[in-house]
Amino acid sequence: MKVMYNQIEQIIRGQQCPKCRQKELYWLSDRRLKCSSCYYRFSANKIRDDLTLLHYFSLGIPAHKAAKALRFSYRKVRAKYMQYRGEIMEYLKQPGRMPSLSPKGARRLFWTFAWEKLSKYPRMSREHFALYLKEMEFRYLYRRKNIFDVLLRMHFGPVFNY
Ligand SMILES: [Zn+2]
Repeated sequence: MKVMYNQIEQIIRGQQCPKCRQKELYWLSDRRLKCSSCYYRFSANKIRDDLTLLHYFSLGIPAHKAAKALRFSYRKVRAKYMQYRGEIMEYLKQPGRMPSLSPKGARRLFWTFAWEKLSKYPRMSREHFALYLKEMEFRYLYRRKNIFDVLLRMHFGPVFNY
């Protein structure tokens, strides 16, 4: 995990290409970086914002609060949050990642947990309820783990292991 943190930090500092890990990059006039080896172009700022938002999300901070604290637009934060939720849904579809909540007691505990957390999302839209519910299942099932680490691997893993 530490390797990944270091890697992201280097990418944000413009010291490493996210695709091929080449360390020679140069700045483009639009303030993006371009890799001298694979020619991949990326915005270090975007990756930094993404990382920050993923951290806020991991802490369960609602989008409108994150937007206010970071002075980002609500639209931008919300789009990112919905992307993370979509990724969680995909993540949980993989075999072995979602132990069942079959015993009755476990189910009740989950719902108590979920409602308490969902009540912090007053702007939750009905059409996306399934996504929010998956997020709650994820938070519940991984509550004894470092959720940020799991999210980091889930979200940045596919990009950085291209
Ligand atoms: Zn590259």
